[in-house]
Order: sequence, then structure tokens, then C-alpha cells
Amino acid sequence: MGKHKAWSSRIALPLSIAVSFLASFPAPSQTPAAPSSTPTSAPDQQPHGQVIFSRSTDDSGQTTTTAGPAAPKTSGQTVSTPVATDAEREALTFTAFDMDVHLRPVAQQIDVRALLTVRNDGHTPLAHIPLQISSSLDWETIRLAGHDLVFTVATLNSDVDHTGQLHEAAIALATPLAPGATLQLDVTYSGSIPQSAQRLITIGTPGDAALHTDWDSIAVDFTGLRGFGNVVWYPASSVPVILGDGARVFDEMGEHKLRMAGAHFRLHLTDEFPHGQAPTVALINGHLVPLALTEPSTAGPEVAGIATSSLDEPALGFEAPSLFLAVRTAHQATNTALYTIPEDDFAVEGWASAASFVTPFLQSWLGQTPRSQLTILDLPDPDDAPFETGPLLVTAIHQGTPDELDGVFAHALTHAWMCTSTSSPPAWLGEGVAHFMGTLWIEKQQGRKKAFESLESGRSALALGEPASPGESPGQPLAQAISPVYYRTKATYVFWMLRDLAGDAALSAALRAYSPAEDAAQGLGPAAGSDYFEKLIEQAGLRRDLTWFFSDWVDADKGLPDIAIDSVFPSHTEGDNWLVAVNLSNSGYAAAEIPVTVSNADASVTQRVIVPARGKATQRILIEGQPTRVQANDGTVPETDASIHIRNLDGAGIDSSSQPAAVQQ
Ligand SMILES: [Zn+2]
Repeated sequence: MGKHKAWSSRIALPLSIAVSFLASFPAPSQTPAAPSSTPTSAPDQQPHGQVIFSRSTDDSGQTTTTAGPAAPKTSGQTVSTPVATDAEREALTFTAFDMDVHLRPVAQQIDVRALLTVRNDGHTPLAHIPLQISSSLDWETIRLAGHDLVFTVATLNSDVDHTGQLHEAAIALATPLAPGATLQLDVTYSGSIPQSAQRLITIGTPGDAALHTDWDSIAVDFTGLRGFGNVVWYPASSVPVILGDGARVFDEMGEHKLRMAGAHFRLHLTDEFPHGQAPTVALINGHLVPLALTEPSTAGPEVAGIATSSLDEPALGFEAPSLFLAVRTAHQATNTALYTIPEDDFAVEGWASAASFVTPFLQSWLGQTPRSQLTILDLPDPDDAPFETGPLLVTAIHQGTPDELDGVFAHALTHAWMCTSTSSPPAWLGEGVAHFMGTLWIEKQQGRKKAFESLESGRSALALGEPASPGESPGQPLAQAISPVYYRTKATYVFWMLRDLAGDAALSAALRAYSPAEDAAQGLGPAAGSDYFEKLIEQAGLRRDLTWFFSDWVDADKGLPDIAIDSVFPSHTEGDNWLVAVNLSNSGYAAAEIPVTVSNADASVTQRVIVPARGKATQRILIEGQPTRVQANDGTVPETDASIHIRNLDGAGIDSSSQPAAVQQ
């Protein structure tokens, strides 16, 4: 176990980066499409919901799958050198998925027919369409307008899949796809998805620890397919990346989610389960979907039952499509459904009481009723690394202290408030608000100091990630951020600052009025902005203009401010009153409104001042009694270096040093 922990802190944590909030918890781990210049689809290629698989088993027990009526099983030509280029892989955007997924968990088998709409987002015509799936799956047919296409299949080394490899089909188009044009492809593929820890073993991870991170597989009791970054069970297009090459795998995962945002995603699931072992819970993209079961009671145990389910998600949020199906026992808690394995039933009470304890606090900020319900799905093994997507938390349900569990629920339930049953917000409003509520919960339970410590613990990583000057690199504007350090850490600071700028009531009203579906209608993905949320705050009765704030902190990445107290001039006015002039400068490229506090042993006066980017500001503060101390910023505004500046004044109330201000972390 000791070995696991040491390993997991190095490697499992980045992999389960979406759930780093659980790290303190004793979990072992770790615009519309341009008109098409190419025919998109023949009438008979329109999406339809019928089951399109037929299966036959021959005398030797060999099962064959046929997709579509009388479609011959073809496969691409295997090539050793990939045909598609990185430029082609990067240009392809998936705008719609209509998938028929057939699972046969006894054989760990998946058979898929998918209607895919792809768009060329590059600047030059696309000669090849690259489509990638996990290397444990095989391409069968790829059709365009009712005709089979000729394609090649290459095996790529890429750690965005647990096998460390992808099967990439490259379709050579007779007429290259023009920039902005779309194409609808009708594809079939199949194979088995057993657990694989190949990519982690390759970089030296011990086998059992690796399997607790890479737990994706199809099995009777538990099918978990997390999507791109873990198992590529739906077609994708990406530049090959390997673990150990810095953060490139994680950046590619973020890039994938951002590119997928706004895509229409429809899935129809058919699961052939063994007699008596019907699944009890199904989740598609983190959304709980009802299961319809057909289990012939008169037939013998050799006859499989059929479970079906479906989801139509008009626009994906910042998410990799995922699929979960399991045999679990359902428990209802406040705004939460827990699905457990028998060994973990004993822990449910503690989890349920945390859900009910935290709920009133979340109601006070986010509204009486969450937009969806939180689902917590128990992982097969207590050491399995947790995962979250939308309003779903997949984790081993084990015993925790009330404080630990309350913290988990403050975060996880916020996702249920921000997601609906078919839509999820962009990352900065999903993960950002969840993390923000987590820190507000710390403030409520343990005080402001502890909450600031929690904020400060992420600031140095943010400061490192930010461009030193906006000219140096474009950075990551929040609404299009792909890295957690932005959409979690920076977004959390942004909500803390909005709280100070707009007030609790206005921020709370905006969060209550927020609709992820309306946000999606305004455009998600690489072209996303924050206009919708900014309007919600303004509509909350705000009497000030926050345009400067959104343009410096959300819609562009201008790095962090760098505030200094340049000088302090106290002057004795009348009686015991002092007027203190505080001269401030900001050598960063983002404007900031900071609190400035002048104090002495008996009194303290705080005023807020905007220090412009690359500029200066002077604040005059009146205080009773001789001032002894000036403080600028209290930690709510993240800066490149320390986020609190203190200047002590000497006995005569005079700025005691020409040295840089004492800095206190
Ligand atoms: Zn989260």
C-alpha cells in the first residue's frame, strides 16, 4: 500500500486530475456549420432509431455481426505508415454523433454503428478524413451517401487510450472537403474492451496500481468507458501524444473536450445481459438514463435479457462522452442517488448525511432545487481512482470523516445544480463554480483564513502557467480554457473577485438564473465567450460596469496582476484624524480591484481601488488615530508573486522604509 501511495501521488493524480478535490479524501489513487460543398447524406442515411445489428452464431460457436441490411463485412487496408497527417487530424471537428451501441458484456464485446457529422475547421481542403478508435476495436465499414468507402487502417502510438494505441482509419476523399464544409459518414466498428494498463506499464507503473487508474472495461457487473483520454470508444481525431511528454496527454484531453463542446450527441444503447444479471443503472455522458428491461421469464438461463436506454444531448458541454452500466443497489439521499456494491452498503449512511448537511448551504447560493440529481456510482475496487463528469461522480464509496464527505458533496452537488438532465455548462462555469462552492464551504466551516489558504495552494501553479505578458503567448481565455489550472483554479479566483465586485446577492442571482442550455445556444467550444454570464450578473441589478473585469479576466488571458505599494503618505488632519495616501502600481497586464486597509491598534478602514493594468492608482483613506500599517490585497486577487502586501509605518506615522514592502504570504 505504501508503494501505491507514493506512486499514485506522482502519476495517478494527473490522470484523475478532474477529481483532484478528492485527493485530500482518503481515496488511494491518485457557429452553425458552413454550407456543405459535398453531398452530406442520402435520404436513407438519415438517423433512425431501429436496431441495426443482426448476429449469427455458426457451428464452431463463432459469432458474426452484420451491420445494416445485407452489408458485406469489409475492412480497411492495413498500412504500417499512417496516411493522415497531424494537420488533417487537427482540422477535423465532430459536430454530431448518432450512435447505436450494442454491448455483450459476457464477451466484453461492443458493436457500434455511428452516423458522424464532421467539419473541416482547417484553412485548406482536407484530402483525408482520419477517424480513430481504441486499438482493441476494429473498423468494419465506412460509408458515405450509401456507398462503401475505401480506407486504410494504421496503428498509432498514442496514450489517449488505455492500450497506448489507436486504430486510425484514413478515408481518401475523391473530392477534398473544403474548409467549413461538413460530411456525414456512416461507420461501423466492433471489438472487445477488457481492462488495459498498457500505457502506464510502459512508463514503469506497477501493474496493480496501473489497473486501479485504468479501470475502463466492459464487464457484466460494471462497464465503465470514460472516453477520450482513457478509452476511445467513439470515433475521434487527435494528434498522437505519449505520457511522459510533459502535460501533452492532458492538454490533448482538454483540447478534445473543447472541440467537442456544442456537438449534438445521440446514443441508443442495447445491452445483452446474462440471465438474472440485469444492469440496474445506466449513465450516458454523466446523465442518468432510464433502462428498459426485457428478460423472458419463460426461457431458460441460457437466454440473454436485453436492456435498452438512450440519451439525446442537444449540445455537449466540456466533456468526453462516457458510458456506464452496472449492477448496483440504489440508495436515495438528498438530491443524490448512490449506487453501491454490497461491500460498501455500510458506508451509505455517512454519505447520505453529508448530502443532507451540505444541501441548505448550496440552496442558499444556487437555488432551492438542483437542475439535476447527483449520481454517485461505486467503483469495483476500493483502490480505484475516482472520476467525475457532469453530475456523475464515480468513486469507491468508502468510509470517510464527516468533514471529508461534506467537502466532497459541496463540490459534487454543485455539479448537479449546474447541469440539467441533458446539458452541462462550459468548464469555467462547471468546474469553476464547483470549486468555488467548495472554498465557500471551507470559509463557512473553518473561516476565511482557511479558505484563502486553499485558494493560495493553487496560485503558484497558475502563476507559472500564465504568460508573463499577453504578447508572449495567447494563454487560455477562461471560456476556452483546456487546463484545470485555468478552468478550476483561475475560475475559482474569478468567482471570489466577482463576489467582491458584484456582491453575494447579485452573484447568487446570476448563478440561479444560469441555464446551460441557453449558454450552449450562444455557442460553446473554441469560439465561446462569457457574454451570457456577464449579462446575467448585470440583470441581477448591478449598478456598475464589469466590462473591464470580463475583458481582462475571462474573455482574454492577460496573465495575473503584479501589485506593489509604491509609497504611503500619512498626514495629520484635525483632532485625532489622519489622512493616508496610498500609492499603488500594477506591473501586470490585467487590471485588478483590490482592497486596501489602513489600520492601527484600535481601528481599521478598508476601501477598494482599481489598479489599472501597467498603471498606478492612489487611494486616500481617512482613519481615526495614528496609522501603523497599510495592507494591499487580501489574497482574493491572484498575483504573479505574493497576493498580500503589507507596509508598516513607524512611530511618527511615517513610511518607515524606502525598501520594497514587506511581503507576507
Ligand atoms: Zn468537479
